[in-house]
Amino acid sequence: MRILYVEDEKYLADAVIHVLEKSGISVDHAADGEEGLSLAVKPTYDAIVLDIMLPKLSGLEILKDVRGRGIKTPIIMLSALSQVEDKIKGLNYGADDYLAKPFKTSELVARLRALVRRPALQDEKIISYGDLYYNLEERSLNDIHLSEKEAALIETLIRNPDHVQSKEFLLAHVWGSDSAGEDNYVEVYISYLRKKLEKLKSNVKIKTIRSLGYKLCLKN
Ligand code: CA
Repeated sequence: MRILYVEDEKYLADAVIHVLEKSGISVDHAADGEEGLSLAVKPTYDAIVLDIMLPKLSGLEILKDVRGRGIKTPIIMLSALSQVEDKIKGLNYGADDYLAKPFKTSELVARLRALVRRPALQDEKIISYGDLYYNLEERSLNDIHLSEKEAALIETLIRNPDHVQSKEFLLAHVWGSDSAGEDNYVEVYISYLRKKLEKLKSNVKIKTIRSLGYKLCLKN
């Protein structure tokens, strides 16, 4: 899972990011509203965590703009406990959840997992396709341990099987927004994964769709 976290309080942001990353959640951080908005409109994130009081643009303004463009990325709003009005506004503008500050980061992790999880997959630890099963907690594919990037890549492919995933999407989703121009990363890591699928003698393959991207599908 990759999220965008927009928060201007540096110490809070550092502490929260540390815990999120330890929980296996990749985080892109923006420290003001303008940067937050420019990242929030990218199709890179599984969820966005948005503080309300921000320099340049408020969290509510970002929320309105993002929803106004028809972007449906799940959004959790953060604000001080006393700002009940902000909570109501946030939910009216299309936020998915709301967390009052101060909050426990474990609570934020739980809310994020709940938002990003597909409804049918409560407490999901394992996602599967064909004869592949990927363990989200152990980061293992059929018991083979994967590197962080391999894991993020296979998770994205297994969650979207039989659909072409563009190289640009995979790059942004796995490597984050600051990785422009490094699109051979995707090729390299796809080749690592293919070797692992071969080793597993899997009935699943990663097909290259010329000039479009990659698709996880069953071998014929
Ligand atoms: Ca703030």
